[in-house]
Amino acid sequence: MAIKTEVVFGNYINGRWKQEAAPPLASINPSDAEEVVGYVQNSTADVVDEAVEVAKGALLSWRKLTGAERGHYLYQAANQLESRLDEIAETLAREMGKTLPEAKGETARGVAILRYYAGEGLRADGEVIPSTDSEALMFTKRVPLGVVGVITPWNFPIAIPVWKIAPALIYGNTVVFKPATEAAVTAAKVVECFAQAGLPKGVLNLVTGSGKVIGNALVAHEHVHGLTFTGSEQTGKQIGKAAAARGAKYQLEMGGKNPVIVAEDADLHVAVDATISGAFRSTGQKCTATSRVIVAEAILQDFQELLLEKTKQITIGKALDDGVWMGPCASEAQLRTVLDYIEIGKKEGAKLLCGGKRVTDGNRAAGYFVEPTIFTNVNRHMRIAQEEIFGPVIALITAKNMEEAIEIANDSRYGLSASIFTTNIEKMLLFIDEMDAGLVRVNAESAGVELQAPFGGMKASSSHSREQGQAAKEFYTSIKTVFVKG
Ligand code: NAP
Repeated sequence: MAIKTEVVFGNYINGRWKQEAAPPLASINPSDAEEVVGYVQNSTADVVDEAVEVAKGALLSWRKLTGAERGHYLYQAANQLESRLDEIAETLAREMGKTLPEAKGETARGVAILRYYAGEGLRADGEVIPSTDSEALMFTKRVPLGVVGVITPWNFPIAIPVWKIAPALIYGNTVVFKPATEAAVTAAKVVECFAQAGLPKGVLNLVTGSGKVIGNALVAHEHVHGLTFTGSEQTGKQIGKAAAARGAKYQLEMGGKNPVIVAEDADLHVAVDATISGAFRSTGQKCTATSRVIVAEAILQDFQELLLEKTKQITIGKALDDGVWMGPCASEAQLRTVLDYIEIGKKEGAKLLCGGKRVTDGNRAAGYFVEPTIFTNVNRHMRIAQEEIFGPVIALITAKNMEEAIEIANDSRYGLSASIFTTNIEKMLLFIDEMDAGLVRVNAESAGVELQAPFGGMKASSSHSREQGQAAKEFYTSIKTVFVKG
C-alpha cells in the first residue's frame, strides 16, 4: 500500500520533526480496520539516546526560567490544543474508537490540565521550618528531577500524557515522551501543540515505536532520572524493577478490577445508570471502569432486570457516527482478549445475562465491536471476577450484607477505584473506611476523578505515589533542606 506522506508523523527531537530510516508503523482505525489513521516512526534505541541527550542539554536553561515563564508555555499549549479541539478529538475517535463526545471531553480535559499546571508556576513550592538556632534560617526548596521519561497507554492518549508532561515541565524537568503505539498519531498531535506554543528546543521530545525496544531503552537510560508510567501491571512491574535497580525515581499506575457495591437501600435507577456508564463507556477500556458489581441478595432480581433493560438500549457503532453510545474495542488484540474472557466466564459456570458476542453486521463488519456483556451467578474466585479484562464485561456477584460486600470488594489484587450505592450514612462511612482503593466514591460511578484531586491506586494498581493536582509535585520534584546561618 502506498503511504501518503502528509500523514506520516516524525519523532520530535530538539525542536525538529524527524523521519527515521525504518519504514513507519501504521495506526489503524478500530471502527474500520481497513482505514489507516496515520503513520508514526518505528524508532530504534539509538533514537532514544539522542532524545535523552537533547533533553539533558535543554535542562539547565529550562529549569532556570521562573515558574511563571514556564507556565506561559503551558498556557500557549493549552490555547493551541483548544483551537484544534475538534480536529484532534476526531483523530482520537478514529484512532482509538472512543465516541466523538467522549473524545471531545478528553481533549477539553487536556486543555484544562494544561491551564491548571500553568498556574502552578506561581504557587508556593517550599516551607519555612523553625530552626532551634536563633541565627539560622531553615527552609525547603523543591528542585526538578532532571530528564523525565513519560510512557503512556492507548486508552487516554491525550489526558494521561498531558497530566504527566504538564507537571513535569512546570516543575522544571525536561521530557522524553514515548506514547502507546496504538494511539501515537493522537499523541504526535498533542506534541505539535507544544511545538506551536514555542516551547524551547529539546524541552519536550517525542519518540515513537515499540515499547519493548524504545520503552526499554528509555527505562534503562542512565540520564533519565524520573520515569512515569501508566499501563498494564505486567509492563509496570518490569519498569519498576529496572528503574529501582539503577536508582531512578519512578511512578507506576496500572490495572484495576473496580467494584461497585449496590446496597438494598440504594436508589436503583442511580445505581444502574452509574453501573452502565462506569462499565461500558469507552467500551470498558478505562483503568477505573466498573467490572465487578456486588449486589445485595434482596434486590438482585430488581437490579438485574433494570440493568438488562437499560443495557439493551446501548447503541454500538463507529466512533464518529451520530448517536453512537459505545464504540469498538481499541484493537484486534483487545477484542480477542475480551472474547477469550467471555469464553472463560462461560466455562467457569457463570451465566450470561446478555451480550457475549462480536458484532459484525452492517457497517460494523470491519471493526472490533463487541456486545456489552453481563455475567451473573459469578463466584468471587472466578477468573472473570479477579483478572482485569479491560472491556465491556460486568461480573455480577451477590452479598448477604454490607460486611460481606466489602469483603468481596476487597478480595482483589487491585485497589484503584470503588463505588457504593446506598442512602444509609453508616454504610457509606463503613465503606469509606474499609475499602482498599485509591478512589472511593459514594453514589457515583467508579470511573472518573477531577483533575485537581489526587489520582492513583493501592495494592497492585500502583506504586503508591499520586498523580494530578498538587500531589503531582511530590513525584516531579526532589526536596532540598536548606540551612542558612546568619
Ligand atoms: P501496556 O501494554 O503496558 O503499554 C503501556 C505503555 O508501555 C505503552 O506505551 C507501551 O508501548 C509501553 N511498553 C510496553 N512494553 C514496554 C517495556 N518492556 N518497557 C517500557 N515500555 C513498554 O498497557 P496498555 O495496553 O497500553 O494499557 C492498558 C493498561 O493500562 C490496562 O491495564 C489499564 O488498566 C492500564 N491503565 C491504568 C491507568 C491508571 O491510571 N491506573 C490508566 C489507564 C490505563 P507499546 O504501545 O509500543 O507496546
